[in-house]
Amino acid sequence: MQCPTCNTLNSATVVRCMTCGTTLIHEAAGHSMAYQEGARTLDAKLHTGIGSFFGFFLVAILLKFIFTAHWLSDREVYLAAVAGGVAGAIAGRLVLKARQDL
Ligand SMILES: [Zn+2]
Repeated sequence: MQCPTCNTLNSATVVRCMTCGTTLIHEAAGHSMAYQEGARTLDAKLHTGIGSFFGFFLVAILLKFIFTAHWLSDREVYLAAVAGGVAGAIAGRLVLKARQDL
């Protein structure tokens, strides 16, 4: 691939020009913006998903099998688990934010 800046002929697999460092592949240039944005979004979804998953099941298991001496019906246990899931999702986001702030 020929460099548009200095006309050096680079191999087709090279991302940057060997002589002047100009980015040769558009996908590679997009990496810095679109890719990072996508990675951030995916990271946020992952943290939220894992957080809500664990929050939900933690509350459900605690109420259903461990702290069984409560007055809650199955439906109320489920609602509490949903609330736990939401709390877990928020916790996941906070963990992500704390990691990004480092
Ligand atoms: Zn060049």
